[in-house]
Amino acid sequence: MEFRDLKKQYQELKPQIDAAMKRVCQTADFISGTEVKELEYMLAEYTGVKHCITCANGTDALTLALMAWNIGRGDAVFVPDFTFFASGETVAYEGAVPVFVDVEEDTFNMSPDSLKKAVRKVKEEGKLVPRAILAVDLFGQPADYSQLRSIAKEYELLILEDGAQGFGGQIGKKKACSFGDISTTSFFPAKPLGCYGDGGAVFTDNDEWAALMRSYRIHGKGEDKYDNVCIGVNSRLDTIQAAVLNVKLEAFRKYELEAVNYVAEKYTKELKDIVKTPHVKDGYYSSWAQYSILLKNEKERNGLQIHLKENGIPSMIYYPKPMSRQTAFKGIDCVKTELKVTEELCKRILALPLHPYMTAEEQGKVIDSLKGFLM
Ligand SMILES: *Cc1c(COP(=O)(O)O)cnc(C)c1O
Repeated sequence: MEFRDLKKQYQELKPQIDAAMKRVCQTADFISGTEVKELEYMLAEYTGVKHCITCANGTDALTLALMAWNIGRGDAVFVPDFTFFASGETVAYEGAVPVFVDVEEDTFNMSPDSLKKAVRKVKEEGKLVPRAILAVDLFGQPADYSQLRSIAKEYELLILEDGAQGFGGQIGKKKACSFGDISTTSFFPAKPLGCYGDGGAVFTDNDEWAALMRSYRIHGKGEDKYDNVCIGVNSRLDTIQAAVLNVKLEAFRKYELEAVNYVAEKYTKELKDIVKTPHVKDGYYSSWAQYSILLKNEKERNGLQIHLKENGIPSMIYYPKPMSRQTAFKGIDCVKTELKVTEELCKRILALPLHPYMTAEEQGKVIDSLKGFLM
């Protein structure tokens, strides 16, 4: 059994994907081909955001946003402690100070209460300028943007939505990657919408920031690549990846997102009385980058993982360590607040196999194995 079955997805979409890749090879338009523009148009339309700018990966997408806002030395950016490393790494890479904020126990997303305390703490100390909230849509569910937005307004902060795992999620009718002043996503193969290598995108309604990011991603280009008006990076999505994504986006919209929600619902129905199943807030819709359950304690979690493995079932621990405790942040300026929930989650969380192509039989095996261990 695969944790996320990309081979099966390829088998389903093979004729279209092969044809799309072949077209790119034949035109030899490997960089900035028409497929890239087509994809950007489709993604902007899907998310309801004015500008979509693709780039090389989800980490670069965050960096491009921070560059557009000129965030760097002396600035504070508020980041959840429970997320993939890139969310905090990019902030430190730009020379700004990541302020680690705790998360909500039921959604695993940034806690508005913890955020408020962190902002006040930084303001009181007066050493850093609070600039932005980097909110992550963890495991597919959008963060609580109505509360985050009111905190952002109160303290004049920008919101950067890290939608690397959130693409396809919704609050009401509004789509993920439209909640930030700038939003980002990743097309890493295992993300809700993945390509066949690395890829990413930024989204914004702001014309000025969009123009800056379009320039930064191609060596700070002015008129063209050989007219350089500022120091940028080389971060484009290549045409083959865009061609793959154009095919995959259609499948994602037509049935994959619905199919993965169906599988997630079944897990919840079968497991909710045995373990703590993930909570989706009222009016929220998840794209289920992960389906993560909470066990009683570390011993039970580790025991279950071994038991599943013995039964041929893969599972993953996202994340085994709070970001603030990563070795990389040891010698680096950062601010910690109370991070108790994150500490707990790292010990008790376990992600189960989940993807749109999972059969009832495969899922039944996971459920039975889990019940066999816990009941
Ligand atoms: C995957 C991920 C990223 C980075 O995306 P890449 O495309 O791998 O660079 C950033 N933030 C979060 C929350 C992620 O899950």
